[in-house]
Amino acid sequence: MNLKNKTIFTFLSAPGAGKGTLAQQVSTNLNYIVLSTGDLFRQHIANQTEIGKELKSYIDKGQLVPDDLTINMVKKWLLEQKESEKSIILDGCPRTAYQAKKILAIISHDMPNYKFRVVKLEIPQEEITQRLINRRCCPNKSCQAVYNTSMPEIASGKCPKCKTDLIQRQDDKPEVIAQRFDIYNKNESELISAYKSSGINIETLNVSQKTPTQIFENFKKIL
Ligand code: AMP
Repeated sequence: MNLKNKTIFTFLSAPGAGKGTLAQQVSTNLNYIVLSTGDLFRQHIANQTEIGKELKSYIDKGQLVPDDLTINMVKKWLLEQKESEKSIILDGCPRTAYQAKKILAIISHDMPNYKFRVVKLEIPQEEITQRLINRRCCPNKSCQAVYNTSMPEIASGKCPKCKTDLIQRQDDKPEVIAQRFDIYNKNESELISAYKSSGINIETLNVSQKTPTQIFENFKKIL
Protein backbone atom coordinates (compact mmCIF):
# COMPACT_ATOMS: atom_id res chain seq x y z
CA MET A 1 0.00 0.00 0.00
CA ASN A 2 1.54 3.31 -1.03
CA LEU A 3 -1.05 5.69 0.38
CA LYS A 4 0.60 8.10 2.86
CA ASN A 5 -2.01 7.72 5.57
CA LYS A 6 0.30 8.34 8.55
CA THR A 7 2.63 11.19 9.41
CA ILE A 8 6.05 11.50 11.01
CA PHE A 9 6.45 15.01 12.40
CA THR A 10 9.73 16.49 13.48
CA PHE A 11 10.23 19.90 15.06
CA LEU A 12 13.06 22.14 13.98
CA SER A 13 13.59 23.75 17.31
CA ALA A 14 16.37 25.32 19.34
CA PRO A 15 16.93 23.74 22.79
CA GLY A 16 14.17 24.85 25.15
CA ALA A 17 11.73 26.10 22.49
CA GLY A 18 9.12 23.68 23.81
CA LYS A 19 9.34 20.75 21.40
CA GLY A 20 9.14 18.19 24.22
CA THR A 21 6.05 19.78 25.78
CA LEU A 22 4.30 20.03 22.41
CA ALA A 23 5.21 16.43 21.58
CA GLN A 24 3.69 15.23 24.88
CA GLN A 25 0.47 17.17 24.22
CA VAL A 26 0.17 15.71 20.72
CA SER A 27 0.77 12.27 22.15
CA THR A 28 -1.79 12.62 24.95
CA ASN A 29 -4.52 14.38 22.97
CA LEU A 30 -4.07 13.13 19.42
CA ASN A 31 -2.69 9.67 20.15
CA TYR A 32 0.64 10.03 18.36
CA ILE A 33 3.63 7.92 19.44
CA VAL A 34 6.64 9.99 20.50
CA LEU A 35 10.30 9.17 20.33
CA SER A 36 12.32 11.73 22.28
CA THR A 37 15.97 10.92 21.56
CA GLY A 38 17.01 13.02 24.59
CA ASP A 39 14.69 10.96 26.88
CA LEU A 40 15.85 7.70 25.31
CA PHE A 41 19.47 8.66 25.91
CA ARG A 42 18.77 9.82 29.47
CA GLN A 43 17.04 6.49 30.19
CA HIS A 44 20.19 4.63 29.13
CA ILE A 45 22.24 6.89 31.39
CA ALA A 46 19.86 6.35 34.34
CA ASN A 47 19.97 2.58 33.77
CA GLN A 48 23.78 2.76 33.63
CA THR A 49 23.93 0.67 30.46
CA GLU A 50 27.21 0.38 28.55
CA ILE A 51 25.83 2.68 25.86
CA GLY A 52 24.60 5.06 28.60
CA LYS A 53 28.18 5.68 29.78
CA GLU A 54 29.19 6.69 26.26
CA LEU A 55 26.09 8.89 25.82
CA LYS A 56 26.70 10.71 29.11
CA SER A 57 30.14 11.89 28.01
CA TYR A 58 28.54 13.85 25.15
CA ILE A 59 25.28 14.97 26.74
CA ASP A 60 26.76 16.43 29.94
CA LYS A 61 28.99 18.68 27.83
CA GLY A 62 26.12 19.81 25.59
CA GLN A 63 27.63 18.03 22.59
CA LEU A 64 25.65 15.99 20.09
CA VAL A 65 25.78 12.22 20.33
CA PRO A 66 27.57 10.86 17.21
CA ASP A 67 25.29 10.52 14.18
CA ASP A 68 25.66 6.79 13.60
CA LEU A 69 25.03 5.88 17.23
CA THR A 70 21.92 8.10 17.19
CA ILE A 71 20.60 6.82 13.87
CA ASN A 72 21.06 3.14 14.80
CA MET A 73 18.92 3.66 17.91
CA VAL A 74 16.29 5.72 16.04
CA LYS A 75 16.11 3.25 13.14
CA LYS A 76 15.55 0.32 15.51
CA TRP A 77 12.75 2.23 17.23
CA LEU A 78 11.12 3.36 13.95
CA LEU A 79 11.08 -0.14 12.50
CA GLU A 80 9.39 -1.42 15.67
CA GLN A 81 6.56 1.12 15.17
CA LYS A 82 5.92 0.84 11.49
CA GLU A 83 3.01 -1.61 11.73
CA SER A 84 1.24 0.63 14.24
CA GLU A 85 -1.81 2.59 13.12
CA LYS A 86 -0.49 5.69 14.85
CA SER A 87 1.38 8.68 13.50
CA ILE A 88 4.73 9.59 15.04
CA ILE A 89 6.53 12.58 16.53
CA LEU A 90 10.31 12.52 16.44
CA ASP A 91 11.22 14.84 19.30
CA GLY A 92 14.82 15.99 18.96
CA CYS A 93 15.73 14.09 15.82
CA PRO A 94 17.03 14.61 13.15
CA ARG A 95 19.46 17.22 14.47
CA THR A 96 22.02 17.14 11.65
CA ALA A 97 21.79 17.05 7.87
CA TYR A 98 23.33 13.55 7.95
CA GLN A 99 20.62 12.30 10.34
CA ALA A 100 17.92 13.92 8.18
CA LYS A 101 19.13 12.14 5.04
CA LYS A 102 19.31 8.80 6.87
CA ILE A 103 15.81 9.18 8.30
CA LEU A 104 14.37 10.17 4.91
CA ALA A 105 16.01 7.07 3.43
CA ILE A 106 14.51 4.83 6.17
CA ILE A 107 11.05 6.31 5.54
CA SER A 108 11.18 5.95 1.77
CA HIS A 109 12.59 2.41 1.97
CA ASP A 110 10.80 0.90 4.97
CA MET A 111 7.89 3.18 5.82
CA PRO A 112 6.41 4.35 2.49
CA ASN A 113 2.96 5.03 3.93
CA TYR A 114 4.29 7.79 6.20
CA LYS A 115 4.41 11.43 5.13
CA PHE A 116 7.36 13.34 6.68
CA ARG A 117 6.57 16.88 7.90
CA VAL A 118 8.94 19.43 9.43
CA VAL A 119 7.64 22.22 11.66
CA LYS A 120 9.99 25.01 12.72
CA LEU A 121 9.20 26.42 16.19
CA GLU A 122 9.96 30.14 16.01
CA ILE A 123 11.10 31.93 19.18
CA PRO A 124 13.88 34.42 20.05
CA GLN A 125 16.98 32.84 21.60
CA GLU A 126 16.95 35.23 24.62
CA GLU A 127 13.47 34.02 25.58
CA ILE A 128 14.51 30.38 25.65
CA THR A 129 17.82 30.92 27.42
CA GLN A 130 15.91 32.19 30.43
CA ARG A 131 13.47 29.30 30.18
CA LEU A 132 16.27 26.71 30.13
CA ILE A 133 18.03 28.23 33.12
CA ASN A 134 14.74 28.01 35.05
CA ARG A 135 13.85 24.48 33.91
CA ARG A 136 13.70 21.75 36.56
CA CYS A 137 13.22 18.07 35.72
CA CYS A 138 12.08 14.98 37.53
CA PRO A 139 14.87 12.38 37.27
CA ASN A 140 12.49 9.49 38.05
CA LYS A 141 12.68 7.31 34.89
CA SER A 142 8.97 6.57 34.86
CA CYS A 143 7.97 10.24 35.40
CA GLN A 144 10.39 12.63 33.65
CA ALA A 145 8.03 15.58 34.23
CA VAL A 146 9.37 19.05 33.41
CA TYR A 147 8.70 22.25 35.38
CA ASN A 148 9.77 25.88 35.64
CA THR A 149 11.09 27.51 38.84
CA SER A 150 8.22 30.03 38.66
CA MET A 151 5.67 27.25 39.36
CA PRO A 152 4.50 27.44 43.01
CA GLU A 153 3.81 23.68 43.10
CA ILE A 154 7.55 22.95 42.97
CA ALA A 155 8.52 25.35 45.76
CA SER A 156 9.42 22.32 47.95
CA GLY A 157 11.90 21.15 45.31
CA LYS A 158 9.98 17.88 44.89
CA CYS A 159 8.09 16.56 41.87
CA PRO A 160 4.34 17.16 42.50
CA LYS A 161 3.53 13.93 40.65
CA CYS A 162 5.92 11.40 42.21
CA LYS A 163 7.66 13.30 45.07
CA THR A 164 11.18 12.70 43.70
CA ASP A 165 13.70 15.52 44.29
CA LEU A 166 13.77 17.71 41.16
CA ILE A 167 17.08 18.39 39.43
CA GLN A 168 18.54 20.93 37.03
CA ARG A 169 19.87 19.08 34.00
CA GLN A 170 23.67 19.34 33.77
CA ASP A 171 23.19 20.62 30.20
CA ASP A 172 20.80 23.38 31.40
CA LYS A 173 23.66 25.17 33.20
CA PRO A 174 24.36 28.55 31.51
CA GLU A 175 27.81 27.67 30.12
CA VAL A 176 26.49 24.44 28.56
CA ILE A 177 23.39 26.20 27.17
CA ALA A 178 25.64 28.57 25.19
CA GLN A 179 27.47 25.58 23.71
CA ARG A 180 24.15 23.88 22.77
CA PHE A 181 22.96 27.03 20.97
CA ASP A 182 26.21 27.27 19.01
CA ILE A 183 25.81 23.68 17.85
CA TYR A 184 22.12 24.18 17.08
CA ASN A 185 22.67 27.32 14.99
CA LYS A 186 25.38 25.65 12.93
CA ASN A 187 23.28 22.54 12.28
CA GLU A 188 20.00 24.35 11.62
CA SER A 189 21.15 25.92 8.36
CA GLU A 190 22.58 22.61 7.15
CA LEU A 191 19.36 20.82 8.10
CA ILE A 192 17.25 23.37 6.22
CA SER A 193 19.40 22.91 3.11
CA ALA A 194 19.08 19.12 3.39
CA TYR A 195 15.28 19.37 3.63
CA LYS A 196 15.07 21.80 0.73
CA SER A 197 17.21 19.61 -1.50
CA SER A 198 14.90 16.68 -0.67
CA GLY A 199 11.85 18.75 -1.65
CA ILE A 200 10.52 19.03 1.92
CA ASN A 201 8.60 22.16 2.79
CA ILE A 202 9.40 23.68 6.20
CA GLU A 203 6.24 24.79 8.01
CA THR A 204 6.41 27.33 10.85
CA LEU A 205 4.73 27.74 14.22
CA ASN A 206 5.25 30.88 16.27
CA VAL A 207 5.79 29.77 19.91
CA SER A 208 7.06 33.04 21.38
CA GLN A 209 5.22 34.34 24.48
CA LYS A 210 2.63 31.55 24.22
CA THR A 211 1.38 29.07 26.79
CA PRO A 212 1.67 25.34 26.02
CA THR A 213 -2.12 25.26 25.45
CA GLN A 214 -2.00 28.11 22.92
CA ILE A 215 0.90 26.41 21.11
CA PHE A 216 -0.99 23.12 20.94
CA GLU A 217 -4.14 24.85 19.62
CA ASN A 218 -2.08 26.55 16.89
CA PHE A 219 -0.40 23.25 16.04
CA LYS A 220 -3.80 21.59 15.53
CA LYS A 221 -4.63 24.24 12.91
CA ILE A 222 -1.79 23.09 10.68
CA LEU A 223 -2.67 19.39 10.88
P1 AMP B 1 17.06 17.15 24.33
O1 AMP B 1 16.40 16.48 25.50
O2 AMP B 1 16.32 16.95 23.03
O3 AMP B 1 17.40 18.59 24.61
O4 AMP B 1 18.46 16.40 24.12
C1 AMP B 1 19.44 16.40 25.15
C2 AMP B 1 20.80 16.03 24.58
O5 AMP B 1 20.75 14.70 24.01
C3 AMP B 1 21.30 16.92 23.44
O6 AMP B 1 21.91 18.11 23.92
C4 AMP B 1 22.30 15.99 22.76
O7 AMP B 1 23.48 15.87 23.53
C5 AMP B 1 21.58 14.63 22.86
N1 AMP B 1 20.71 14.40 21.67
C6 AMP B 1 19.35 14.33 21.65
N2 AMP B 1 18.91 14.07 20.40
C7 AMP B 1 20.01 13.97 19.62
C8 AMP B 1 20.22 13.75 18.23
N3 AMP B 1 19.19 13.57 17.38
N4 AMP B 1 21.49 13.70 17.78
C9 AMP B 1 22.54 13.85 18.62
N5 AMP B 1 22.43 14.09 19.92
C10 AMP B 1 21.17 14.16 20.44
